[in-house]
Amino acid sequence: MKTACGFWLIGIFVLFISCKGGVKKHNHYFSLTDTTELRLPNSTWEEVLTDGVYTVTREGSTEMPYTNEYWDFKGTGHYHCAACGNLLFSSAHKYDSGTGWPSFWQPSEPNRLLFRKDFSEREERIEVRCRRCGGHLGHLFYDGPAPTRQRYCMNSLALKFVGGKGSKPTK
Ligand SMILES: [Zn+2]
Repeated sequence: MKTACGFWLIGIFVLFISCKGGVKKHNHYFSLTDTTELRLPNSTWEEVLTDGVYTVTREGSTEMPYTNEYWDFKGTGHYHCAACGNLLFSSAHKYDSGTGWPSFWQPSEPNRLLFRKDFSEREERIEVRCRRCGGHLGHLFYDGPAPTRQRYCMNSLALKFVGGKGSKPTK
């Protein structure tokens, strides 16, 4: 009986450790107010970001459409960079682009973003990065709605929603 209890305790302990390591990591570079530029090596980001956020923001991968967290999310609030907390977009500028990715027709402030020509696909695209941490966020297209005609096509994993009054953060 004693041995059985011991096994149970070890099992619970292992489960606790694996949950801690796999899901949440403490990211002390994340701040909703600090705008100081961060130029950190990927090895540092790998230590503080979850695998999904790291793959998108540091390796430039793209999430699947329609299954990501914010593509049809309608909360009222602000979208910050998931890696560093930089304010990027407002829910007031989010719209349904029909693409399956969260889309905005303008950023909160243009100087929060960096733009770079991207030749990784057959067509030339404009890559959008976070100005504070340099992380990849998504791409900018010019088939959006008036008045800007811009479409900021973002990865949900690169964003962290922070709800306004009466709106619940989901991540
Ligand atoms: Zn950032």
